[in-house]
Amino acid sequence: MVAEETQTPLLLGVHVSIAGGIEKAFARGEEIGCTAIQIFTRNASRWQAPPLKPEVVSAFRQARELSSIQYVAAHDSYLINLASPDEALRRKSITTFLDELGRCHQLGIGDLVMHPGAHMGAGTEAGLARVAESFHEIFQKAPGGVRVLLENTAGQGTCLGARFEELAEIIRLVPEGDFAVCFDTCHAFAAGYDLSSAAGYVDVMAEFDRLIGCERLALFHANDSKKALGSRVDRHEHVGKGFVGTVGFAALMRDERFAAVPRILETPGGENHCHDLENLALLRRLAGELRE
Ligand SMILES: [Zn+2]
Ligand SMILES: [Zn+2]
Repeated sequence: MVAEETQTPLLLGVHVSIAGGIEKAFARGEEIGCTAIQIFTRNASRWQAPPLKPEVVSAFRQARELSSIQYVAAHDSYLINLASPDEALRRKSITTFLDELGRCHQLGIGDLVMHPGAHMGAGTEAGLARVAESFHEIFQKAPGGVRVLLENTAGQGTCLGARFEELAEIIRLVPEGDFAVCFDTCHAFAAGYDLSSAAGYVDVMAEFDRLIGCERLALFHANDSKKALGSRVDRHEHVGKGFVGTVGFAALMRDERFAAVPRILETPGGENHCHDLENLALLRRLAGELRE
């Protein structure tokens, strides 16, 4: 057994609401014992968002300084589609994504998680080319200091990013981009990557390492899947209660390569956070006693 003091603290938490003020996210996370959180910095289902007031920015930064939470990621709006063949929609997506980056920059959030987009029938190749074109423009105008975390998807409909090859291709096409990857376990499983056994986990991560590189993996979304392997349907289930199961999550939680990588739950918190508390406790247990 390794000496306790050499252990990295487990960065673990949930996506928390910003209702009533973005700075309230920290108290919400602390209440359930999070050391990491994910937030939206604006209403995720609207195009328009009022700019952040300076007093909101300072309240957020101050709350963060006083908080025991060590990692914060933002997730972008679900409306954004940088792959859209509809030029008006793609333009709107670029503008909104730049606003997302600007907000992160103001708030001091270093990681912005995003879904690569949907090709809407244009085909994977054309879709990836449009994403790259959008990113060329974005990185020219981006404020800097904010990393873009490409999230793998379940491959629902015409969504890009279900295959590791597609994420790798975006990174390759945009060499100037500041990219890392957010690995969603539910999405990967639904996309056909079998994480439900120890051997399956090893194979999937070897594939990830070969195509993208484990050093690019910056965040996990620790969601189980309500749907079967390869279903391409994105339905999050509580950790251990779905098709991935505790065996798969144990393999993930004990993988030393990712000891310092934060893990975020994106499942319903439940009454008085009952589900969150249970899920976080399970992940801590799976990570091993020493890291609790
Ligand atoms: Zn997401
Ligand atoms: Zn996710």
